[in-house]
Amino acid sequence: MILQAPEKKDFQGIHIVGIPDKRFVISIRHGKFQSVKESGERDGAVNGNKAGQRNEAVNRNGASEADEAETGEEREEQDGELWISPGLIDLHTHLAWTDFDHADQLKRDPQEIEAMQAKAFEATLRAGITTARDAGGLAQPTADYILRHYGLPLRVITSNGMFGAADARGIEHLQVRMNEVFASGADWIKIMATGGLGAPTEKVLEPNFSEQEFAFIVKYAHDHGKKVLVHSWGGVTIDWSIQAGVASVEHGMFLTADQAGRMAAAGVAYVPTASIYRIAADPKGVLALPPLISDRAARAAEAHPRAVEYAKREGVLIGFGTDYATPALHGSNLMELGTLREYGLSWEEALQSATSNAARILDAEQQLGAVAEGLLADAVVFRQDPFQAESSRQILDSIAMVLTAREGSLL
Ligand SMILES: [Zn+2]
Repeated sequence: MILQAPEKKDFQGIHIVGIPDKRFVISIRHGKFQSVKESGERDGAVNGNKAGQRNEAVNRNGASEADEAETGEEREEQDGELWISPGLIDLHTHLAWTDFDHADQLKRDPQEIEAMQAKAFEATLRAGITTARDAGGLAQPTADYILRHYGLPLRVITSNGMFGAADARGIEHLQVRMNEVFASGADWIKIMATGGLGAPTEKVLEPNFSEQEFAFIVKYAHDHGKKVLVHSWGGVTIDWSIQAGVASVEHGMFLTADQAGRMAAAGVAYVPTASIYRIAADPKGVLALPPLISDRAARAAEAHPRAVEYAKREGVLIGFGTDYATPALHGSNLMELGTLREYGLSWEEALQSATSNAARILDAEQQLGAVAEGLLADAVVFRQDPFQAESSRQILDSIAMVLTAREGSLL
C-alpha cells in the first residue's frame, strides 16, 4: 500500500528501525513528521501494569486531548508489531531505460516506452524507494510528466545525458553540452570516466577524458550549483575524482585501499552498485547477457567485496545504488541490501547507506533520511524488524506500507 502525502496519520507504539526495545508515538501532518515521541509504557503485562493501561499511556504521550477527539476515528488498531524506517533512497537507477541494449529501446513505440517507464517508477516506489537519483537517460521534464500523469509520488532527481567517450572533444564542446543538461533541469552531472561492461577487462580502467577535460566538467558543474557523480571502475579517474571533489564515485570495484583512505578524507562518497554485476555475471540470469559480457561482469563482481571492505575500513561514506535499468529489475532494488551485507556490511550499515548516508550524499539531510520531527514523512513501514531478516527478500515481503510526503520538487 502506498500512502501519498497523508494529511493525518498516527502510529501508536511503533518501533523505529535501529532503535531496539523502544516504541514510539508518531504523528504525521501534511506530509511531515510532526512529532516523534517515545511511548512511556509498553505492554501492561511486561511492566506489571493493570490491563487497559496501555491506551492511557499512548494518550499521554501522543497528541493532545483535543487532537485525539478530532482524529480518534482515524487511529488504527495496530495489528501486530510494526517497524518504521525513513523512505529508502536509491542513488543509482535508470528509470527511463527499458532494455539492456539501447538499440532495443529504439525499436519500441513511444507509448509503450512511456508505459514501461511509468511501471518502473511504480515498482521502485513499491519496493520502499521513495527517492531515486537517476544516473542517466531520464530528463527532468519526462520525469515530471510521468509523475503527474500517472499520479506517482516518487521523488526523482535527474542527471539526464551522461558525459562519456563521445564527449571527449575539448572544453568548448563540453561547455555546450553541459549547458543543455543544465537547461533540462538536471541537478547532477554524470561522468562516465571509464568504460563498463562494454569494454574489454584490460582496458576498462583507461580514462575516457583527458585530466583537463575531467577537471573542467567538475568545476563547470560546481560553478553552476550542480553536483557530480562519476562512473569509474577504478584507476586514475578515482584519483581525479578525489582531487576535483566530486560527490560520489559509482561502481569502483577496483578501488584500492589507499584511494579509499583519500576518498574518506576528502568526503567523496562511494556507491558500489554491487548486486547488478552479480546479476549480469549469470548468463542464465534475468539479463541473459552474451558470455563475453557476463565474463567481464564476473570479474567485476569478484573484485567488488574487496572494494566495499576497503571503503568500510577507511570510513568512506557508502551510498545505496542499484543501477537497475530493465523491467525485470525495477522493484527488486532491496537485493542490493543483501549483496552489501554479503560483502561485509551489517543490515544496519546497509540500511544507513539507503537512508541517512544517501540523504547526506544528496545534501538533503534537513529533509530526508531520518524519522525525526520536521522532516518529510517519506517512510517505509515493515511487519518485522529488518535487522532480524534472513534475506533482503524477507525485508521486501515484510513491507506493510510506503509513505511519501507531498512536496516533490524540494531537491
Ligand atoms: Zn548506471
